[in-house]
Amino acid sequence: MNTKQTKGIEIENPSKYMTLTYAVSLTIIALLSGAVHLMLDQVIEQQSQTGKIVNISGQQRMLSQRAGLFVLHHLQTGSHDSKLVALDAVDKMLINQNFLLQRHKENQHADFSAELNALYFNPPDNVQQNVIKFADTIKGILTSPNELNAANLDKQKQYVVDVAKTSLLESLHSVVEQYEKESLEKVDELRFAQNVVFWIIIFTILIEAIFIFRPMVAKVTLFASKLQREANYDALSGIFNRRAFNLQSAQQFNVSRENDQPLSVLMCDVDFFKNVNDTYGHSTGDEVIKRVAQVMLENTRNSDVVARYGGEEFIALLPRTSKHEASIVAEKIRRSIEGIEINIDNHQLRFTISVGISDLKPSDTDIANVILRADEALYNAKESGRNQVILSA
Ligand code: GH3
Ligand code: MG
Ligand code: MG
Repeated sequence: MNTKQTKGIEIENPSKYMTLTYAVSLTIIALLSGAVHLMLDQVIEQQSQTGKIVNISGQQRMLSQRAGLFVLHHLQTGSHDSKLVALDAVDKMLINQNFLLQRHKENQHADFSAELNALYFNPPDNVQQNVIKFADTIKGILTSPNELNAANLDKQKQYVVDVAKTSLLESLHSVVEQYEKESLEKVDELRFAQNVVFWIIIFTILIEAIFIFRPMVAKVTLFASKLQREANYDALSGIFNRRAFNLQSAQQFNVSRENDQPLSVLMCDVDFFKNVNDTYGHSTGDEVIKRVAQVMLENTRNSDVVARYGGEEFIALLPRTSKHEASIVAEKIRRSIEGIEINIDNHQLRFTISVGISDLKPSDTDIANVILRADEALYNAKESGRNQVILSA
């Protein structure tokens, strides 16, 4: 019996390759996702900061109006509440201004655009200087009114009205607009970055599909088809092995039964094969096995199932074939093999086979019953002198 048909060494199991490529592609995706996550984190941080800045710079406008309004009200009515509101407004203005310019100090202008810089520190707006002057003037009016003579107080009042009404308001307005404009520009930049990331991911997935997953699938497919071949075919003779024969003959048994069709089985065995091996060597024995397989294929139909059943034992299942018709096929095979000459060192090796034939009987419950009778007929052929075809009862 041949039990070493599988040439396992030839089949390279792709699982190691798959694990590696899978790990590589997952790592790439993980790195990209990590980068996107970090970027989004930064974006969210930046955006929340920008929102706060726009909001606070907007507050400055409102506070300048409130301070101006309430300081005048205080001067007109002497209302203590109005004084407190005005003082509170300028204090808040100074705190806000500090906050807005903090980035300017901390980042040494890095995060501060040239436009903002100009608005805060250069004429005509000079926002920073004007806010401080405005706050100081209001504080001066409110905290030490006695130091101011009437003419001076009027001048200061006029200053507060003018500044609150026009120049400071407009400058603060320009600052808000600038912040808003920069915020929108940042959003555009982020949109662009988002698009870039999106296309990088799509591109990566495509590259992975083409260069990693496609070859991987090809390898697996090849591996599967090789395994399929190894599982069903005999490596030496190239015909079906016993396993494939058992599967197909069981199916064919049912088909013949259902359609009430005849079915025959041929069992062949090389005569004195041991002598061939002993006299000429194993490789010559292998050659004999290949030749028998070839002759059996040549003399049967495509619908017949021909297999190497064991060492030098072959089997053929002939659907829709009576025992008599099968015996004609068997006789042709026997005679063809009888005529084969294998040249070995000026010597002609000739060999024969014995054949047992059986057919499907109504009492058979399994194809094994038919095979068993063919085997018995083969035994009879051997007993009766070999190189002959014997039909089962
Ligand atoms: P008989 O006429 O009664 O069939 O005699 P035999 O010598 O053919 O019978 P036996 O079953 O004793 O011998 C079969 C031999 O086949 C034994 C084994 O070493 C040999 N064999 C089995 N598989 C292979 C193979 O793949 N290659 C070769 N060269 N020999 C094989
Ligand atoms: Mg034999
Ligand atoms: Mg044998």
